[in-house]
Amino acid sequence: MSLPLPHSLSPSKVSAFKDCALAFRFSAIDRLPEPPSVPAVRGTLVHRALEGLFWSVPRGQRTAEAAQAQLERAWEEMQSDPEWLDLALSPEEAAGMLAEARVLVERYFGLEDPDSVVAIGTEVVMEARLGSLLLRGIIDRLDLLPDGSLVVTDYKTGKVPGVAQEQARLGGVHFYAFLCREVLGVLPARVQLLYLKDQVVLSTEPSEQSCWGLCQRVRAIWAAVERACRLEDFRPKPSALCQWCSYRAWCPAWGGDPALARVEALRMAPGRGGGGPVEGIEGVVLAAPAASAGVATGAGGDGLGAPAPGGPGVGSQPALPLDMVAPG
Ligand code: SF4
Repeated sequence: MSLPLPHSLSPSKVSAFKDCALAFRFSAIDRLPEPPSVPAVRGTLVHRALEGLFWSVPRGQRTAEAAQAQLERAWEEMQSDPEWLDLALSPEEAAGMLAEARVLVERYFGLEDPDSVVAIGTEVVMEARLGSLLLRGIIDRLDLLPDGSLVVTDYKTGKVPGVAQEQARLGGVHFYAFLCREVLGVLPARVQLLYLKDQVVLSTEPSEQSCWGLCQRVRAIWAAVERACRLEDFRPKPSALCQWCSYRAWCPAWGGDPALARVEALRMAPGRGGGGPVEGIEGVVLAAPAASAGVATGAGGDGLGAPAPGGPGVGSQPALPLDMVAPG
């Protein structure tokens, strides 16, 4: 008897496995839902506001006021979101969260001028194979530079990592670069993390060598995941992260029984039966074998297709020919 392998790996899953193999198992294999948290929901809200800024507002009109209007729209939409309802915040707590989101959106403008950005995709889902392994990631924003090169932008609403964690964060960046190369056939000129709260940009220029290094690291992690599944051996790794871990009730380091996690996962999601995608991502997926067919994105404000009536969303746009995205 062995545990089923996860269907795919994403940057967050790679990072989760390195942080604590047992927490990875609970999330990616047992698929135990994590309860919504204020930071996660606030992050979603800010991402949706910035997505709307690039989707619905033409260049030249992307002001701080326009961004706040997009935040208000996202806020109204969120009122019926199950994750939001599950948080069950008091009116005061909800107002506090909205105020924090407003500050994050405001601080974004200290990092770049959105009118100078040609965004050709938002919330772009990409996947590519690395041997038998499926790699999957969502790119917050894909930009086109005047010389035809691409920039991948990822918004961060948490704290800037310390020096020790910086390399780990940039590891996720190389993951995105690899996906771009496999799906679009173009290595991005730059991948940047925009830390809104602290107004810090971490960026790197990917290379063939960094892609190779990423592949080696991911292969090694996948081999470790396969081995752990085969032996049913996912060990807890207690650390400061435990205080934010949703799985303490099933963690032996906290007196729990891991065997009960899968039972609990099925109880919490009746009918799932262990099938379906691990990540739960819906919408159009850009897969490497179909790269030559085009690029389906959520962007619409920069002359590469009119915005869909329904507003931001993955896959609501027609596919863009690759040569429109990266000429030359
Ligand atoms: S409580 Fe700590 S050791 Fe246990 S699963 Fe969570 S992160 Fe790992």
